[in-house]
Amino acid sequence: MSEPFQLGDELGPVKVIHVQVPEADVKGILVVDNVAAGPAIGGLRIAPDVTLEECFRLARAMTFKNASAGLNHGGGKSVMIGDPHASKDQKEKMVRAFAKALRGETDYIFGPDMGTDELCMGWVKDEINRAAGLPKALGGIPLDELGATGFGLAVAAEVAVEYCDFELNGARVAIQGFGSVGIHAARFLSEKGAAIVAVSDSRGTLHNPDGIDISALTAHKLEGGAVAEFSGGKKMDGSAVNFVETDIWIPAARPDVLSQDRTGDFKAKLILQGANIPMTHDTEKDLESRGVINVPDFIANAGGVICAAMEYQGQTAQGAFKAIEEKIRENTKEVLERSKRNSISAREAAENLAVDRVKAAMQTRRFGIF
Ligand code: NAD
Repeated sequence: MSEPFQLGDELGPVKVIHVQVPEADVKGILVVDNVAAGPAIGGLRIAPDVTLEECFRLARAMTFKNASAGLNHGGGKSVMIGDPHASKDQKEKMVRAFAKALRGETDYIFGPDMGTDELCMGWVKDEINRAAGLPKALGGIPLDELGATGFGLAVAAEVAVEYCDFELNGARVAIQGFGSVGIHAARFLSEKGAAIVAVSDSRGTLHNPDGIDISALTAHKLEGGAVAEFSGGKKMDGSAVNFVETDIWIPAARPDVLSQDRTGDFKAKLILQGANIPMTHDTEKDLESRGVINVPDFIANAGGVICAAMEYQGQTAQGAFKAIEEKIRENTKEVLERSKRNSISAREAAENLAVDRVKAAMQTRRFGIF
C-alpha cells in the first residue's frame, strides 16, 4: 500500500464518512476499510493534526493487523480533530456526539487509540453499545493498564533477536513515546533483562547509556512529569531518541517519525514498531538494506487489538494474554522467515501474509470486501 488512497484498491475502503457536529466541536472521519472477515475493529484517535490520509492508512493497517492475528474482524479507524488533553467534560461531549453520529455504522466497532481510553469507550458503549477496550466496571480488560501492546512487543523482541547478532538479555533499547505502549514495552523488556537506555515523550529525550530506572521514571511520568526532567539521565532534544547507540528501537508515538534523509544516522539493529506507520515504506526499505531487522507495526503491535477482540468475545485477561503471546510469536517468526527466504522486505512479507488471509475471507463473501 504505497500509493495514496484516492480511488481505493481491491481491498477497500468500503466506506469513508466525514462527520461534523458543530454544537459539540466535532470534526471527524471514519474509514471502514475491509469487513470481509467480520465487523471492523479499530481505534478512535483524537489529535489536532489528523488527516483523511492518516485515517485511511491506519484503517488499512487495522485490516492487515486483524487478518494477520486471525481475528474475525475487518479493519477500520476513526479520527477526530481536537486536543487529546481536552478536559474530561469536553472530551465526553465530543466522543458521545461522534459515536452517536455513527450509530448506524454497525460494521465498525470503536476501540481506544491515541487521545482516547477505556473511559471514552465506556461513553461510546453507553451511546451505541458498540465498543471494545472497555473499563473494568463494564466487564472490560483494561488493555492499556495491563500493557497488552507492550507485552506483545516484548514477545516480538524474543523472536526477532534470533535474527540479530545480540541477545535480549543485556540488549539496549530506545523508546520514542512513553505512553501506554512505551511504558509497558519498557517494563516487559526490562523484565527480560534488556536495558532501556533512552526514552522520549513530546517534551524531549532522556538518555542514560547505563540504563534508566523504568519503574521510577514511570512513576514520575504518571505524576505528570516530562521524561527529560527525570533525574536519572541526560536531557536531550526530542529526536535524539531515534539516533542514540542502541540495539533495539521502538517507535511508540506518532506516524512518520523517522525520515529517509536521517537513516544514515540510525544506529539500532532491530526495530519493533509499537506505533502505527512510524515511517514510510521507503524509509523501512532503506534501513533493511543496511541490515536492520524490522518487525512491522501490524505484526509487532497487535497485542492491543487482540486483547480488545478477546474482550468483545467474552474472554478473560489471562485468555487474552495467552492469545497475544501465541499469535505474535507465530506471526513474527512467519514474517521474518518469509522475508529471509524470499529476499523481500519484512513489510512485503507481512503484507503478503495479511493479504492472503484477507483474500481468503473475501472468497467467502458475495461482495468481497463487505
Ligand atoms: P499515548 O497517548 O498513551 O502515548 C503517546 C506517547 O507519545 C506520549 O508519551 C506522548 O508524550 C508521546 N509523544 C507524542 N508526540 C511525540 C513526539 N513527537 N515525540 C516523542 N513522543 C511523542 O499513546 P499510545 O496508546 O501509547 O499509542 C502510541 C502509538 O502506538 C500510536 O501510534 C498508536 O496508534 C500505537 N498503538 C497503540 C496501541 C495501544 O494498545 N495503546 C496498540 C497498537 C498501536
